[in-house]
Amino acid sequence: MSTPTAHSPAQARQRTRSCAIELACHRCEHRYPLEQAVFACPDCGKGLDVVYDYELAARHFSDVPSSERPRNIWHFEELLPIVDASAQARVGRYAGYTPLIPADRLGAELGIANLYLKDDSSNCPSFSYKDRVVAMSVARLLERGKREIGCVSTGNVGTAVASMAAKAGVAAYVFYPNRLEDAKARACMALGAKVCQVEGNYDEANKRCRELALATGMDFANITLRPFYAEGAKTAAFEIVEQLDWRAPDHIVTAAAGGTLSSRLHKGLVELAQLELSHTDATRIHIAQPSGCNPIATAILAEEAEIVPVTPETAAHSLAIGAPGDGYLVIDAVRKRGGTGGFASDPENFAGIDLLAATEGLLTEPAGGTTVAVLEKLAAMGRFGPDETVVAIITGNGLKTLDDHPPKQWPAKVDCELDAMRAALEELQRGETLVESARRQLHF
Ligand SMILES: *Cc1c(COP(=O)(O)O)cnc(C)c1O
Repeated sequence: MSTPTAHSPAQARQRTRSCAIELACHRCEHRYPLEQAVFACPDCGKGLDVVYDYELAARHFSDVPSSERPRNIWHFEELLPIVDASAQARVGRYAGYTPLIPADRLGAELGIANLYLKDDSSNCPSFSYKDRVVAMSVARLLERGKREIGCVSTGNVGTAVASMAAKAGVAAYVFYPNRLEDAKARACMALGAKVCQVEGNYDEANKRCRELALATGMDFANITLRPFYAEGAKTAAFEIVEQLDWRAPDHIVTAAAGGTLSSRLHKGLVELAQLELSHTDATRIHIAQPSGCNPIATAILAEEAEIVPVTPETAAHSLAIGAPGDGYLVIDAVRKRGGTGGFASDPENFAGIDLLAATEGLLTEPAGGTTVAVLEKLAAMGRFGPDETVVAIITGNGLKTLDDHPPKQWPAKVDCELDAMRAALEELQRGETLVESARRQLHF
């Protein structure tokens, strides 16, 4: 029996235009073939990064104009790690390419003249930035011919895995820590994932899931498939720059948990410059964390190279990672680019949710509220010049977290009768608006 090889065209699988060549260790420069199922350097234990042939990517890229490319996660497929076209075609058709919204009303509140929101709360299928990263993991899983995927999740990875696994026809197993919004756990189950609640926080559950993956051979979206997962985050940077007509913004502000998104925004910006698509060196990356879990922001502000893990204590559950795996990459990116880190308390984060809702009509979760609250602080500190362009990434949707953020006042019940309703309306007209209460909470 002959084994098919890449040289037998009849049997060769159709390839994408991916220019990925190998995996490289973040620390020790060891390299591994792309096909090898490794996720951490066997030599030094650090994470692995996908390396591309940038000259080839530049040529491929100019072959197909942007208008002919799919408006989804695969728009920049040259710089993504999936090589099997059939695997790629089965995942993420509607993920990514989220709107970049001019935020004039929020900008006016904060005193930022050129503010845009990258709205990943509308990401498809599961309404968070995690649709970008999980699309890569599931495509990689299919490429490897596997039929089961696990994940450890603070909430949004789980719903993305559940949803994309269902569409790809593979089984999903979600492990989540003891604190999670009910709606996120229920959404995973409603989407058909098998769910297990672990008695421990995220960092503890993550450690055990790593052992579980190694013991069982099951692929985990954000553990064993990590080098591929992380590549999905770059797509946010690619899209932002393209949506600004290839003029990179002066500032990007985003929430950070494990640090994947913020560190890969940096990688994406570097790659756009490498392909000579845009000058991206001047773009600063600022990260936002909740006060109750801010190990990366703390290290950045103290100009420390090492992160001191913390025990998370915050209502922003999707940011509750006390030992951020990619934290050192974020520190590096922020130092190189001259950005900063900031943090805000839970009440400020909820006020951030309110301010965003009342000015831009977008309902975000506490992670997005954290971003808005830190954006307010950075603007108040004069971090943004009057002519500079600022992009804030809204990473998740608030419909999943409404239970944690009840209204300040529940609606009054009145008789279905004209006078009573007129009196109720007058009462409502006298009441404080959401913008007013948000302003009060954010102290400005
Ligand atoms: C996961 C997540 C983040 C942060 O992601 P990292 O890449 O781990 O830093 C931000 N916002 C939301 C809503 C998330 O789910």
